[in-house]
Amino acid sequence: MERKGFFGNWGGAYIPEVLHQTFEELNDEFLRCKNDPAFWQEYVELMSTYSCRPTPLTYAENLSRHFGGARIYIKREDLNHTGAHKANNVMGQGLLVRRMGKKRVIAETGAGQHGLATATMAAKFGFACTIYMGEEDVRRQRPNVFWMEKMGATVVPVTNGSRTLKDAINEAFRDWVTNVDDTHYVFGTVCGPHPFPEMVGWFQSIIGLEAAEQILKYHGRMPVRIFACVGGGSNAMGIFKRFIPEAGVELVGVEAGGHGLATGLHATRLSGSDASPGVAQGYKTMFLQDGDGQMKETHSVAAGLDYVGVSPILSDLWEKGRVRFESATDGEVMAALDLTMKKEGIIPALESAHAFVQAFKEAPQLTPADAIIINMSGRGDKDIFTIAHAFDDPSWKDFIIKRGLEYSRNK
Ligand SMILES: *Cc1c(COP(=O)(O)O)cnc(C)c1O
Repeated sequence: MERKGFFGNWGGAYIPEVLHQTFEELNDEFLRCKNDPAFWQEYVELMSTYSCRPTPLTYAENLSRHFGGARIYIKREDLNHTGAHKANNVMGQGLLVRRMGKKRVIAETGAGQHGLATATMAAKFGFACTIYMGEEDVRRQRPNVFWMEKMGATVVPVTNGSRTLKDAINEAFRDWVTNVDDTHYVFGTVCGPHPFPEMVGWFQSIIGLEAAEQILKYHGRMPVRIFACVGGGSNAMGIFKRFIPEAGVELVGVEAGGHGLATGLHATRLSGSDASPGVAQGYKTMFLQDGDGQMKETHSVAAGLDYVGVSPILSDLWEKGRVRFESATDGEVMAALDLTMKKEGIIPALESAHAFVQAFKEAPQLTPADAIIINMSGRGDKDIFTIAHAFDDPSWKDFIIKRGLEYSRNK
């Protein structure tokens, strides 16, 4: 195995022979784009006319006063088209696919957010689009499946294995191997075989580039800490990358603590002690696996953080001590979400709320001379079913039951 695409001990490209040439071509095209300032310009232009870039950096005045410590700023990735930072990655890959002359894109999705973003991009660029999704997830995520289909994508329910994300990934790879000539696999996060971690991280780095400029304008100096939730790690890498050389900026990644580390029902890879080094899904990282390399079941109230692996770039930064990792439990997440809605009128996605939890724990120990930034990876509107259920809202329950009855009556 060559060392290309490794970050310290992590990463690489463990791929079948038939995909070698495709990866070679993808990597070549990516490097051409990366070295061409006109490509980045085209990307920024697209994101400022089709999405909402630059996204604002909001001073959370009421929360800052409430905690009486650091000045809290929120980077508003929720204001992107389709409601999360995922747009940055898929639109960037869309430009790349168009340059490579391919006509079809495929993707795998768990909660449906990446599938929705990919279907949106495919509609905009005129690509055919197939989304692989575990049958179980198709059932649980009907609203996202509905929009994907309305945007012209074919959603394929995967009936193998546990019928969730990892089975969908296998199925997507199978499709790609068969259709490499005209098809691009739109990977959703900074994981997978090289060059995906580097490429997705590059597109997402637009978050940190903007945030650095904005915080200097509003606060006059660099922040002391930045908080981001970590599923695969793309929104975290997106805001961290620009600040890695800034020694005074502490970078904090927050993983899903689920029901608590002691219960085993969580998705903490770098902040807990349950993960170990392994190679799966084409790359080497810290995985939640048993002694035989079988992937463990993970749990989080936030579907986007519920993943067994983590970015090889983050595993490297963790090992080098450049990024500190913490976790937030489902219960803490609901409390932080509640407070943020009441104090600021802002609804973070359940994923993003993990970063808010840790920022709220640390803000009181700092002073108003210190700015901290929370990366709000997405908006919570998509989570209304989960959030209303978790708050056990009686009128919501009543609404769902009545809608169900109306439908069955009119059938
Ligand atoms: C998908 C998603 C995540 C998790 O993905 P990362 O690659 O870790 O950023 C986080 N927040 C939101 C809102 C998401 O949709």
